[in-house]
Amino acid sequence: MLAIRLMKKPILSPKKAITEGVVMKALKSRCELKQHLQELLQNLWDNGSTGRSIHKVLKTVNLKPVFWTREKILFVTEHGPFPSFLNRFHLSDSNSCACGEVSDPIHYATSCPLTLSWHIRETSTSLKSLWYPRVLENPNSRKRIINMVKFIIDNENIMRLE
Ligand SMILES: [Zn+2]
Repeated sequence: MLAIRLMKKPILSPKKAITEGVVMKALKSRCELKQHLQELLQNLWDNGSTGRSIHKVLKTVNLKPVFWTREKILFVTEHGPFPSFLNRFHLSDSNSCACGEVSDPIHYATSCPLTLSWHIRETSTSLKSLWYPRVLENPNSRKRIINMVKFIIDNENIMRLE
């Protein structure tokens, strides 16, 4: 907003620009600037190296805030009481679930016997990029994920293989 306002005021008067040989570019409309900014941010978001777990769900840059529950954030970012996450940051010796499998959020959501009550149908590897957005768009699946993450948080000590 500040940048747009600054650009509306020319730094030099047109007369001074002509006499001093300064080339002035035509100012773009506010709409064009907004579209240019949107494309620039989208390019940075698509080709960045951080936030990739969020990118699989929020593919399009939007200037409006997105409100997610804590459980949804933990599930999508994979930063939570999941042994795979705790092991990656040396907070646990094992990355295995109590059932013996490597535990990440998808394991809990699809195949772990400890979270059977909240299971969602597993996806094929080729459709994995579509799995997260579809699961989180579906109100029933989203409710299952939220309740499952709450269960994992409440029972963190029995969910991992020591
Ligand atoms: Zn398990």
